Amino acid sequence: MAKNAKPGTEPAAASTSNFIRSHIEADLASGKYASRTWGGKPGPAAVHQGGAADPAKIRTRFPPEPNGYLHLGHAKSICLNFGLALQYNGICHLRFDDTNPEKEEQEYVDAIRDAAHWLGFDWGTHGYFASDYFGFMYEAAEHLITAGLAYVDEQSADEIRANRGTLTQPGKPGPWRDRTAADSLARFREMRAGKHADGAMVVRAKIDMASPNINLRDPAIYRIRKATHHRTGDSWCIYPMYTYAHPIEDALERISHSLCTLEFQDQRPFYDWLLGKLADGGLLARPLPQQIEFARLNLTYVVLSKRKLIQLVEEKHVDGWDDPRLPTLVGARRRGYTAEGFRMFAERIGVVKSDSWIDYSVLEDCMREHLNESAERRIAVLDPVKLIIDNYPQGQQEDCHAPNHPQKPDLGKRVVPLTRELWIEREDFAETPPKGYFRLFPGNNVRLRYGYVVKCTGCDKDAAGNITAVHCEYIPDTKSGTAGADSVKVKGNIHWVSAQHACAAEVRLYDRLFKTEHPGAGDRDFLLDLNDNARRVITAQLEPVLLDTTAESRYQFERHGYFIADRNDSRPGTPVFNRTVTLRDSWAK
Ligand code: ATP
Ligand code: MG
Repeated sequence: MAKNAKPGTEPAAASTSNFIRSHIEADLASGKYASRTWGGKPGPAAVHQGGAADPAKIRTRFPPEPNGYLHLGHAKSICLNFGLALQYNGICHLRFDDTNPEKEEQEYVDAIRDAAHWLGFDWGTHGYFASDYFGFMYEAAEHLITAGLAYVDEQSADEIRANRGTLTQPGKPGPWRDRTAADSLARFREMRAGKHADGAMVVRAKIDMASPNINLRDPAIYRIRKATHHRTGDSWCIYPMYTYAHPIEDALERISHSLCTLEFQDQRPFYDWLLGKLADGGLLARPLPQQIEFARLNLTYVVLSKRKLIQLVEEKHVDGWDDPRLPTLVGARRRGYTAEGFRMFAERIGVVKSDSWIDYSVLEDCMREHLNESAERRIAVLDPVKLIIDNYPQGQQEDCHAPNHPQKPDLGKRVVPLTRELWIEREDFAETPPKGYFRLFPGNNVRLRYGYVVKCTGCDKDAAGNITAVHCEYIPDTKSGTAGADSVKVKGNIHWVSAQHACAAEVRLYDRLFKTEHPGAGDRDFLLDLNDNARRVITAQLEPVLLDTTAESRYQFERHGYFIADRNDSRPGTPVFNRTVTLRDSWAK
């Protein structure tokens, strides 16, 4: 098992090919990264000269900005980057891309680490912060200025924008473009020393104002921001731009394959330009990392934009970042989604080069598939009504035996007590049965799962006509597992719990957070598409063994779906369950 694996993480043996895997395999075959050295920690060329050959065949990284909680889209990126490192005997770094001082917080750093661990991945000693490279990034900018490859531009933001040109028109050089390197350098040092106000000037790479690629029309690489950074405090009042910082971070960490989403495709020429110039200047070592783009995950029925997620939390449409309705990874975890399910999902959707939508049911099916295999079965009555077995003696009790997992007999059976009064689902009785209804109605025989066949005899009603109890008589020789079990044929089979033994518990029935496939499509306010029925809280009657459930235990409640004991609110003695997913897709059209 490779370094990034935690026990229990399966190797990516059954992986299917895709364009990224083909790319990596071609690089491995040509030995492109074989000469790379690794000094143990990230650093510029000098650190690596004479360093040991890099033991990792490839290096990838997951580079979140610590400005929010991770969502389902990030899970794709995490599984991809860590999964490739596992498959190709490489290493995947966890790097916090914390180059923007204003929006970043330690709370997010901790939550991101937790989420990545929870998904089953480990970066060992390879956890990094982009802010650790601020010193190098500054030196590199001085180098570019000195070499005539960057300059300080004192135009206002509006002027810079106006001179940048458009998709059809080339840009125009501004008045500061041809100032001397010495002049630019002096200004840059003043910027660093705090002598200028935010926005007064920026450093720009000097490339080509007429380039057909707007990203090459002298992109900004440094700006003034007098803000306190969550790690470097007030040491800096200038900060590198993301497009400048990111390639350098990759190069210092000796990343081989830098995977990112498609919107960065037009940035790739700058990525290559920058690293090439710094390598030419001896600041970075070759072979350099290469950027490869893939389509981001777009999922129906959710929003995967940090801005919208923050809005849902701040405006209290949900109860915090870990609300089980939210498509964050902490929310998904509380909802009962599994790391194995996410890894299966990532493998199943694969990576492609053009944007497309994945139906939410694909993710739900992966969760069902893993839970079907891994979750033990239990019985819960979610909408209880009494069933009274009139010919069963009051005070009598007997054991029935229910398998913990139908496909795994080695998991054994547990005892469920049968008594005269049971809880059954209200919908399992119909006074006048619709066509094709095989459950309880007067005169019909039904099996009480793991127990006897009963004949329904009628029901009690209150003054308003509501059914308050259902009556039946059991047929003594028909107990499941005995010789006479099949002596009476039935078409219906219902679940039940002994009323005397059952434990009443809070159960939260979660459903999709949005009621439409593309929330907020067009100009519509996405909040209008919220599904008001995404959470329903009920009191259910559970079989007695569930009373002592520990938090985060998962079960299939027979005939209902998969449930998890809530991470925050469930305690042995007072369990609280969340519905993860129903047994079948009720959204299919
Ligand atoms: P922003 O940059 O607007 O804050 P972001 O979603 O890109 O938002 P990052 O923290 O930069 O957030 O993302 C970390 C990594 O996750 C990036 O490499 C990014 O490409 C990847 N990522 C983000 N959203 C998705 C998605 N929907 N599908 C696949 N990968 C994603
Ligand atoms: Mg981003």
